Amino acid sequence: MTISGFTPKKRIILFGPPGAGKGTFTRVIKKFLPDIVHISTGDIFRENISKKTPLGVNAKSYIDKGQLVPDAITIALVEDRLKKEDVEQFGYILDGFPRTIEQARALSEITLPDMFLLMDPPTEILIQRIVGRYSCQRCGKIYNKYLLKPETEGVCDKCGSVLEIKQRADDTEEALKTRLDGYQKKSKAIIEYYEKQNVLKRVKKAFVLELTNDEVKELIDLLILNICVPIQVKSNDASEIEMLIKNVKKADPDYIEFRLDYIDDISNLTSGFLKKLVELSKDAGTKIIFTLRSLAEGGQMDISEQNKLKIIADAIVAGPDYIDVEMSSSDTLIREAVSLAIQNSVKVIFSYHDFNKTPSYDEARTIISEFEERLTQKLSIGAITTRDFPYKLIFTAQSFEDNLIPIRLCQVISEMRKNIISFCMGELGIFSRVSCVKYGSFFTFSSLGDKTAPGQISIYNMRDAHRILYKA
Ligand code: AMP
Repeated sequence: MTISGFTPKKRIILFGPPGAGKGTFTRVIKKFLPDIVHISTGDIFRENISKKTPLGVNAKSYIDKGQLVPDAITIALVEDRLKKEDVEQFGYILDGFPRTIEQARALSEITLPDMFLLMDPPTEILIQRIVGRYSCQRCGKIYNKYLLKPETEGVCDKCGSVLEIKQRADDTEEALKTRLDGYQKKSKAIIEYYEKQNVLKRVKKAFVLELTNDEVKELIDLLILNICVPIQVKSNDASEIEMLIKNVKKADPDYIEFRLDYIDDISNLTSGFLKKLVELSKDAGTKIIFTLRSLAEGGQMDISEQNKLKIIADAIVAGPDYIDVEMSSSDTLIREAVSLAIQNSVKVIFSYHDFNKTPSYDEARTIISEFEERLTQKLSIGAITTRDFPYKLIFTAQSFEDNLIPIRLCQVISEMRKNIISFCMGELGIFSRVSCVKYGSFFTFSSLGDKTAPGQISIYNMRDAHRILYKA
């Protein structure tokens, strides 16, 4: 079973004392997010030591004495690893870093985590987990003399050989106490640091051996409640837009959508200005979307397809993460935009809006399948190239039941590992606007200040709702 959607929020720091179960947690999380990059500083050091690299030789002198490797070395190493493309694409689980407040501060300069997961079981359990651990000498199966005994005492469940309790040399109670002391001294400041950033989550259950799949899934669910805040770009006044971006960033949305159709004068949308928007807003934690919404789809701009394509092309070249392209666009526009987007590593959001009603579920599926057919058959755009381009289908609720259609759509399409954003607009659509992310929607929209669509609620209300409903 894998989690649906390709790029949910997924910048995770695992934090906890030795024996907390970080390794186990990582193995389980990988079942749901197979591509997420696991970065364990301890593993990197051990690998370098065994290869006798200069880093390994240096680190060994500290590790052998049970000391921390100096911050300067460790920070540079983590920074280097986090800059690699797989991390950008799939996210990370940091394990064993940060271990000092200086490391935490340095990390904030490089990336902001979505979740700082504190695994802090009671000390008695830690001691039992580590001191009680032993394995079968023949097949390696792990047992615990307190927590996981073989079915028949003294006989291995797996290979049937006679079990002799032989433990790892460093799994003694005394050695563990020293390791725990070191952890306690440094951990308080780090935990407080992330608590202030509002990303601290505690694994509340003191799980005995390992979290069940359902428990891990529950934790991962908290990571996918993504919110996009639109900014109306009304003029090319750099200081005004800078203020707007700063304000929106304070609320820390996962996506910022620049609504370019609000511009006072179309000639202000120069490629230099579009680049400036990206420059001012881009960081590791926020993705940028450019949208030029036409009048027919509820936007502000009445322009020819030709002019629209010109702006969309400039917008793509400016380097956002996503460009919105309406499904109702001409073949030429779609073909050109997709090809340019691929060349520039920009993803396309194919959007569809209905400002009057919500179609039936079957009609909604048909909108997607007909568009997919148009892409592949008519426009000869390979399904693989557009695999992670999200579909965005936004309807208008006329009744409560209408909300169930986009939610079902999100469930079904995301299970097919295709990115989907779908909910209903209007006051009656707030139910799906809030809950779609829980059911596989790539993100939902919330406002900060001016609303760009009916039924939009503020990002703060949205977060409160998620917190209360989903314990986010
Ligand atoms: P671990 O496998 O995470 O327990 O790490 C093994 C050893 O590597 C630690 O005892 C430290 O000496 C060193 N180490 C790992 N991570 C860090 C870090 N973030 N800062 C300093 N030293 C580290």
